[in-house]
Amino acid sequence: MLGTSSAFDFFYLVLEWPGSYCDAATSCCYPQSGKPASDFSIHGLWPNNLDGSYPENCDPSRPFNASQIGGLRGDMDALWSSLSCPSSNSEKFWAHEWEKHGTCSEKILRSQRDYFAAALRLRKSVDLLGALEQAGISPDGKSYPLALIKNALQDGGYAPGITCNADDDDSGSSQLYQIYLCVSKENLEITPCPVLPRSSCHSRVEFPVF
Ligand code: 5GP
Ligand code: 5GP
Ligand code: 5GP
Repeated sequence: MLGTSSAFDFFYLVLEWPGSYCDAATSCCYPQSGKPASDFSIHGLWPNNLDGSYPENCDPSRPFNASQIGGLRGDMDALWSSLSCPSSNSEKFWAHEWEKHGTCSEKILRSQRDYFAAALRLRKSVDLLGALEQAGISPDGKSYPLALIKNALQDGGYAPGITCNADDDDSGSSQLYQIYLCVSKENLEITPCPVLPRSSCHSRVEFPVF
């Protein structure tokens, strides 16, 4: 959908559990900046519409330019690094996210720096792992009822979308993969989600060690 209109209604801030990315069919490689913390990391900040559709690849004339995120690199490495193989400095991942989603946010987040800085600020403003651990749910490789995970997040003040992927072992069990939080385009703060992605999780969900 190259060049699709860049009007949209809200953002998804999509966070992912690194242990589930790594424990899946396509394995992972730690980035050159080193093994990331055992905490949720950023997948992307995605403009989205109320009907579930979304614009993508809105402006091919504005490719990713690493020189524009100079001062953010330490935070980017800590909170938004790439776990794909081969090991990299994460720039390909950032370029993909900027080009596919960031170029569609231009009306609200006008520069690459603003786009990446907003995602970092939002990620730092939430503590999903803390909310889960408060309820006794930790990344210990065990399985937890999805309802318990949802309740724990709700008690922490979050009502996100949750998606799962499949463990790459014989069990093929459902693992906690991504958390979709919603962000208002009016004030750029976390807001209740107007529409959630379809959950791909089973009724019990594994929380892999990382
Ligand atoms: P997957 O098939 O991995 O769920 O999604 C592939 C890619 O499509 C994602 O990385 C993201 O770029 C895009 N995508 C998937 N679902 C959504 C969505 O609900 N909203 C937006 N904005 N992008 C999505
Ligand atoms: P999206 O699903 O946002 O369109 O695409 C994510 C793209 O970034 C995929 O091509 C995926 O292989 C690549 N990628 C590189 N590093 C990572 C990572 O750490 N996590 C995720 N989810 N995707 C990554
Ligand atoms: P990427 O391009 O991000 O590497 O891959 C994204 C695609 O892989 C999406 O379609 C997403 O739904 C899918 N995906 C993510 N995790 C898994 C997994 O564990 N198993 C399988 N089969 N597909 C996955």
